[in-house]
Amino acid sequence: MTRTKVALVGIGKIALDQHVPALNASPDFELAATISRSGKVDGVPAWTDFATFLTERPDIPVVSLCMPPVPRYAYAEAALLAGRHVMLEKPPGATLAEVHALEAIAKSKGLTLYATWHSRMAHAVAPAKAWLKDKTIRKAHITWREDVRKWHPGQDWVFQPGGMGVFDPGINALSILTEILPRPVHLTKATLEFPSNRQTPIAAQLTFSTNVTADFDWRQEGPQTWDIDIQTDKGQLALRMGGNVLEIDGKPSAGENTIMGEYPALYARMADLVRTGASDVDLAPMVHVADALTLGDRRITDAFDF
Ligand code: NAP
Repeated sequence: MTRTKVALVGIGKIALDQHVPALNASPDFELAATISRSGKVDGVPAWTDFATFLTERPDIPVVSLCMPPVPRYAYAEAALLAGRHVMLEKPPGATLAEVHALEAIAKSKGLTLYATWHSRMAHAVAPAKAWLKDKTIRKAHITWREDVRKWHPGQDWVFQPGGMGVFDPGINALSILTEILPRPVHLTKATLEFPSNRQTPIAAQLTFSTNVTADFDWRQEGPQTWDIDIQTDKGQLALRMGGNVLEIDGKPSAGENTIMGEYPALYARMADLVRTGASDVDLAPMVHVADALTLGDRRITDAFDF
């Protein structure tokens, strides 16, 4: 079977760590071009200017956008207007309204728009959702604490307006939460800690309706923590390792401790969406982030430098 050609745009950390290996192993897609101002992938035709690429390669129907959220809209809009299906890294945009605008363009042109949430593809997310389906949540807590210097070395965009700060990883936890809870929650309170020299928070404590809380922190050195603990009327569920390992009542129940399946699963889903002429744009995780930035109590903390 012929694989569909895909162009990868914004060749940086996530493109090289995850997208390129996933595409190289994909039964559905072939990496046919890259577009990046300086990044490249060995052996793949490369462009530095997106408009030139769109004009010169009408044979490539799918574009996958891996640059940070603020510059992403202009690329997504140009791709859709040029008749290409578009896959967006998370978070899908810098604002909710711009993603709604992309949805409208995709719909009007009969194209696929896929706002990906890679953490939803973690091994234990679907089993956790299935287990929670008939339970009543009594209490839930997210602990998402990691070292920004390790995961975003030198990436100043995360601390610039629209970079979302600690919500860049925190939104992964929220993408899992919004996927697995049997009923939606809404944010009621937030405390945000901003480094004195930066525009976005480095830590956040969130409270949601129905006893759901979250603790996001980007200053954790040593072991990293990506846990969701949920107490229900019929036992306790824990998701460890960013949604990859499921424990029920303290005993391992499903999953495996590796994230290497997430991006292959995203591309398989994109292939399905293109095949069926559908889109998948769920903004629930981003609504919680926007609400936290709207409602949050702002504290100033120590200056941060990489
Ligand atoms: P990155 O390495 O800093 O950026 C990716 C590439 O985007 C850069 O190498 C750059 O390539 C291009 N780019 C940067 N600013 C641009 C601009 N203003 N206009 C056009 N292109 C620009 O970031 P990343 O870590 O890959 O993250 C990118 C996205 O993936 C983010 O939304 C992030 O949340 C998501 N993500 C990241 C990780 C991770 O582990 N880092 C994990 C999952 C998801 P050129 O200079 O060559 O143009």
